[in-house]
Amino acid sequence: MLSTDKKLPALLLLSVFVVATCGLIYELIAGTLASYLLGDSVNQFLTIIGVYLFSMVIGSWISKHFEKNILSWFIQIEILVGIVGGASATILFLVFESIASFRMVLYGLVSLTGILVGLEIPENNAVLTWPEGNGWIMKKLASTSLRNISQGSLCYRLEFTADDKVSASILHTKTGKITRIIAEKVILATPQFVNQKLLAGIKRPLPSYEAFNYSPWFIANVTVNQIPTAKGQGLSWDNVAYGTPSVGYVNASQQHLAYSDNKKVITYYLPLCDYESRVARLAAYSRTPQQWLEIVMPELEFMHPGITPFVETMDAWIWGHGMIAPQVDFVWGDARKQAAEPIDRKIFFAHTDLSGISIFEEAFHQGINAAKAVIASYGNA
Ligand SMILES: Cc1cc2nc3c(=O)[nH]c(=O)nc-3n(C[C@H](O)[C@H](O)[C@H](O)COP(=O)(O)OP(=O)(O)OC[C@H]3O[C@@H](n4cnc5c(N)ncnc54)[C@H](O)[C@@H]3O)c2cc1C
Repeated sequence: MLSTDKKLPALLLLSVFVVATCGLIYELIAGTLASYLLGDSVNQFLTIIGVYLFSMVIGSWISKHFEKNILSWFIQIEILVGIVGGASATILFLVFESIASFRMVLYGLVSLTGILVGLEIPENNAVLTWPEGNGWIMKKLASTSLRNISQGSLCYRLEFTADDKVSASILHTKTGKITRIIAEKVILATPQFVNQKLLAGIKRPLPSYEAFNYSPWFIANVTVNQIPTAKGQGLSWDNVAYGTPSVGYVNASQQHLAYSDNKKVITYYLPLCDYESRVARLAAYSRTPQQWLEIVMPELEFMHPGITPFVETMDAWIWGHGMIAPQVDFVWGDARKQAAEPIDRKIFFAHTDLSGISIFEEAFHQGINAAKAVIASYGNA
């Protein structure tokens, strides 16, 4: 049998499904009825669907004001949808003969049903996109735990103390001060090339660090005051040119709420993977800004002929160990498993390089895995 905890979300989903279907049926009944009574069915259906969808948006917007007693509100709204939607056809038939402004009543009832159905679609936190990119996620995650976050703190050594705890030596980069944090358990969410140094003093079977290959990346934020018009597809968020070394650029201004001038920042991404990573890294650090410009501009010119005079600035950054680049036998190999193995049930590991693929989903997955392992280690103590 399902527990109440598991039954409730399933029941809620089922009732939302039933009410949403009823909402559609009410809307279709209203369209059919308006066609019978007023004629011009295409016009009637289009107007009613338009009014209904618009009202759903209003309902969804109003829903953000419901913060307390959500379940009780939800049930009352479900009942109201049933009453208003269910009675609307009868009401419309009854009043058609006797009132002058039949359309007002018709659209009023359709709007009310739409608003009530829309109230079930949460507007609160319904963020699909935002102007600050990952900054938004970062701030939201930090907002609940800001007190426990210490910025500008570089850990340079981990070791076990005499009483079997873990000591982390920290350099505070702004003040130059050094402190130690003593903890029962530690999650190291740093990449392996850093762990290799942090754990140098701890005796354990060493993972094969050489198996972790990090490819360097070159990133440039290019400010352009205009993108020359040309034939073909207009500017997208992600723009990839065929047959060029880079992976193109994203229009970093895409999410800006002010849709005004032509000025844009485009972020250009170049994986430096033509040579072995170590060589590519050294080569990247030895290039001058002018040499980078000579790599970036021909590609941008290829995509947008005539763009050069519109470029205002280029801010560039080299990520020496940009992200893990999985090689043959790495993802299912031993090095990865070995590096993820906790040390003495006290030091746990989380980082995307333990997945072998550098994407945010893997970062969350590794973090959650490590947290679960820490909790489990207390349970079995
Ligand atoms: C150019 C670029 C573009 C990308 N684009 C995408 C994308 O579009 N979509 C996507 O899903 N992923 C993308 N990624 C990958 C994504 O950024 C990573 O997968 C993700 O950030 C990894 O998260 P993480 O927590 O595992 O590691 P990291 O983000 O590497 O976090 C490790 C943290 O440890 C800190 N640290 C390191 N050493 C120390 C130390 N000694 N003391 C204290 N702190 C330390 C670092 O400062 C860092 O904050 C991109 C990566 C790059 C480089």
